[in-house]
Amino acid sequence: MNRYDRSIDAYKEAVDLMPGGVNSPVRAFKSVGMDPIFMESGKGSKIKDIDGNEYIDYVLSWGPLILGHADERVVQGLHEVIANGTSFGAPTLLENKLAKLVIERVPSIEVVRMVNSGTEATMSALRLARGYTGRDIILKFEGSYHGHGDSLLIKAGSGVATLGLPDSPGVPKSIAQNTITVAYNDQDGVRAAFERYGENIAAVIAEPVCGNMGVVPPTNDFLSFLRKITEEYGSLLIFDEVMTGFRVDYNCAQGYFGITPDLTCLGKVIGGGLPVGAYGGKREIMQQVAPSGPIYQAGTLSGNPLAMTAGYETLHALTKESYSNINKRVDQLVEGYKQAAEDYEIPLQINRAGSMVGIFFAEDPVVNFETASKSNLEYFKKYYRTMAEEGVFLPPSQFEGLFLSTAHTEEDIDKTIKAARKAFSTLK
Ligand code: PMP
Repeated sequence: MNRYDRSIDAYKEAVDLMPGGVNSPVRAFKSVGMDPIFMESGKGSKIKDIDGNEYIDYVLSWGPLILGHADERVVQGLHEVIANGTSFGAPTLLENKLAKLVIERVPSIEVVRMVNSGTEATMSALRLARGYTGRDIILKFEGSYHGHGDSLLIKAGSGVATLGLPDSPGVPKSIAQNTITVAYNDQDGVRAAFERYGENIAAVIAEPVCGNMGVVPPTNDFLSFLRKITEEYGSLLIFDEVMTGFRVDYNCAQGYFGITPDLTCLGKVIGGGLPVGAYGGKREIMQQVAPSGPIYQAGTLSGNPLAMTAGYETLHALTKESYSNINKRVDQLVEGYKQAAEDYEIPLQINRAGSMVGIFFAEDPVVNFETASKSNLEYFKKYYRTMAEEGVFLPPSQFEGLFLSTAHTEEDIDKTIKAARKAFSTLK
């Protein structure tokens, strides 16, 4: 009997049905040398796989489930609306309700448009930035992932970095040449790009805390530098807060750092586990979107009642106190890992921002994709497998962050640290 027997069988069936057996590449456990683990159910901080193994979950569906799995308020809300129909293709009051909450909480957003994923949010924001400025070039950062739109799949992070496919076939050269990339936190690099291309740069798109090369926060006023240089050249600053939005803090990363971009992209937490994305910003810019303006973007299921409800219930449940409570659990986790690394003499770098945590098997501080790439991937692989066996579910890649929820308890963290100590003891 193998601990993962049923998952292994399910995967054998799935590889014939879907490319690589999965509907999103990050779900393939390739970089940790395992077959995917198929999940069956979740409650709070725990999930169960189809073999009946239970895990403390630090993936949380790659970020959305900040209240943990099957939160009562979300489930109850969904039960109430589902009986009334799942989609109308006409406006509902639920859209106003979520839009108001988003506008209240996100400093840069005066007007918002709901879409169905983070990818749609960033693609739409780029079109808007290009249409609004009349310029074509986008500046993004190496190792940042902004979804799989053509303009953004250049030197990308997340699954593309994990699989070593930084530039995808199928992206036309004519599109790729309008995207320039610079190392994250590299002010000189950004300045040089602006000196060369500044008059044609429509926008800089940045994760205000990177979460797709592992977690890498901005250093030395990087975000305020981006704010200034984009203003100087008449380019827009887009914060991709698909991951950081409502996760790093109550008012998102932009509230935490006190930097207001022109446009913001949202996803993940804003949908509370259902497919939602959004983009928004200054009224003057957002009014350019159809039907109030000429820049086209639409969606059959955008703003549908189920997605709006899961998003509303999730944001409504989050208070400033929720974030300080999660931060206490993050403190506990980080302290435990630091002690374990010291005790077992494992080179470890830990980055954190709110409830996002990046743990790298690296000697030197991780400030960009290059330094993240120096991590010991063999250590990661071995560590990953022990953690899974000990009942801790982590993102199966060194280039992804861990997420905590309001449902994670002190006991969960203690158990996780115990498992990490066991894993570290086997690494050398
Ligand atoms: N932007 C960022 C910062 C993300 O982390 C992701 C997904 N991990 C996306 C965009 C794309 O979102 P989605 O997968 O919902 O299309």
